[in-house]
Amino acid sequence: MSSIRTVGIIGAGTMGNGIAQACAVAGVDAVMVDVSDTAVSKGLATVAGSLERLVKKDKLTAADRDAALARIKGSTNSEDLKAAQLVIEAATENEELKLRILKQVDGLVAPEVVIASNTSSISITKLAAATSRADRFIGMHFFNPVPMMALVEIIRGLQTSDATHDAVKALAERLGKSPITVKNAPGFVVNRILVPMINEAFFVLAEGIATPEDIDAGMKLGCNHPLGPLALADMIGLDVCLAVMEVYLREYGDSKYRPCPLLKEMVAAGRLGRKSGRGVYGY
Ligand code: NAD
Repeated sequence: MSSIRTVGIIGAGTMGNGIAQACAVAGVDAVMVDVSDTAVSKGLATVAGSLERLVKKDKLTAADRDAALARIKGSTNSEDLKAAQLVIEAATENEELKLRILKQVDGLVAPEVVIASNTSSISITKLAAATSRADRFIGMHFFNPVPMMALVEIIRGLQTSDATHDAVKALAERLGKSPITVKNAPGFVVNRILVPMINEAFFVLAEGIATPEDIDAGMKLGCNHPLGPLALADMIGLDVCLAVMEVYLREYGDSKYRPCPLLKEMVAAGRLGRKSGRGVYGY
């Protein structure tokens, strides 16, 4: 695979514009394509705002900010992805949509181009099968906010080649990230461990073993977590946590992934966390 000078990004939302910023700051050109004009302008404005904050904190010079901004091209024309040597799909988390997008991109970009998906929950092997290049398809799971978070999970589908893995790992490192390599499986590594831990915190709460404040203080002080599991659940969204547990229960067929009834009750009551004004805590 030829060296990566330009990365194509599909989706200009939370993750897409974060990935574009990480590329641009590292000196890699980014073409960020979205279906919506508004999303493209919002994505570009988010990057500009984020770079501006770095300048104010003396973490970036004004000249480097301008150079980074000049490296990002926003577009609503998927033909612009043809300029890329690697395409990262970061569109809305919907399997049907992603399969459709990936088929289209597969027909658009040169055969040697690697296609990656930033999906959190869809099988990389399944997405790869929608293309004619399963060996040049891989998961590249960035964490939010992308410019701040060091981790990228690199997920190998059943047919991902070593060359594809090595090229994508090298790019992640060029972006200043610390990648880990993961086999395709529901939740990959981080969410597979994190979400059941949150679910367990709900069991501890439901059993009356400790107050929410003490459960969170316990995990903060005892494990050095920056945020307790219940406060984290409120941030992620209780509905999202529940949906993830339901996927694990179905996919792994193991009762250890059963969602805590209290979590289900809170979701049923509309207590979804910060976004609804109330979850475990009130906001
Ligand atoms: P988002 O809703 O902020 O952005 C998604 C964007 O995709 C929107 O701007 C939408 O207009 C665009 N889009 C929809 N259809 C498209 C198409 N056909 N072509 C081009 N663009 C299209 O979502 P997000 O939070 O950025 O999530 C994107 C992906 O990243 C998802 O797969 C999600 O699971 C994954 N992810 C999200 C997070 C997170 O914390 N938000 C973390 C890791 C991974």
